[in-house]
Amino acid sequence: SGQLPRPINTRVITVANQKGGVGKTTTAVNLAAGLAVHGLKVLVIDLDPQGNASTALGIDHRAPDIASVYELLLGEVDIRETVKQSPNHENLYCVPATLDLAGAEIELVSLVARENRLRNALNDQAIVDYGFDYVFIDCPPSLGLLTVNAMVAAREVLIPIQCEYYALEGVGQLLRNIELVQAHLNKDLHVSTILLTMYDGRTKLADQVAEEVRRHFGDKVLSTIIPRSVKVSEAPGYAMTIIQYDPGSRGAMSYLDAARELALRANTAEAVTP
Ligand code: ADP
Ligand code: MG
Repeated sequence: SGQLPRPINTRVITVANQKGGVGKTTTAVNLAAGLAVHGLKVLVIDLDPQGNASTALGIDHRAPDIASVYELLLGEVDIRETVKQSPNHENLYCVPATLDLAGAEIELVSLVARENRLRNALNDQAIVDYGFDYVFIDCPPSLGLLTVNAMVAAREVLIPIQCEYYALEGVGQLLRNIELVQAHLNKDLHVSTILLTMYDGRTKLADQVAEEVRRHFGDKVLSTIIPRSVKVSEAPGYAMTIIQYDPGSRGAMSYLDAARELALRANTAEAVTP
């Protein structure tokens, strides 16, 4: 496994889809791990109160008094305390989520710069000093203030789409929200990447969905498709990503391929952006 190109600037990528169970968290942690094993320094920000990304990265987000993304958004702690190194890989870091984050959607409403909280935290010198190559933000399954914070903090949105019935349901609404954020809060925001997930090659439906998504989104869709595989769903139970849990499995190989594609293609995108 050779090295992958280092982006000139940190690539901040929001992984969003307001539908639950489409593979947001699995995609965020496995792309992060796939880039980390290729020598890149990667941070995952867990923005879902369930804390599934934290779990997959081996961070015990139920530990008492843990400094989490909640305190980060509210500005209650030293930012450095919220950044935890994953025991799974030395290049992999996580700002964990705790259950109190569920209240943040409401608590944030009354705060100044409520949509810019995460962006401001990421621009803090304490975070900049880590020198992350990639930051992935794992969104909750809603389009509320947490997801808006993620969209304001990022340049890129990655949408995982499950190869299932109603795959595109809700995607129109998501795109409209992205346009609103782009118009009013973050002009650099754009959908850079679509990843097809949980593909079952035995069904005709999966191919039909993949084709339809490619018709809609063209070359934003990665050519790598993530297969449905039980091992992928087992890995978080061992506090690991599939890339540590079973590196030779189809699931791990496909996430490594997707990570490579992501790293290689955006360098061109970056170069053509004025
Ligand atoms: P989301 O974050 O969008 O809610 P998750 O990433 O948590 O979605 O995935 C939903 C469920 O599907 C989880 O139990 C996860 O382990 C499982 N899963 C995700 N990707 C795959 C896959 N490629 N094959 C099998 N199971 C998967
Ligand atoms: Mg999730």
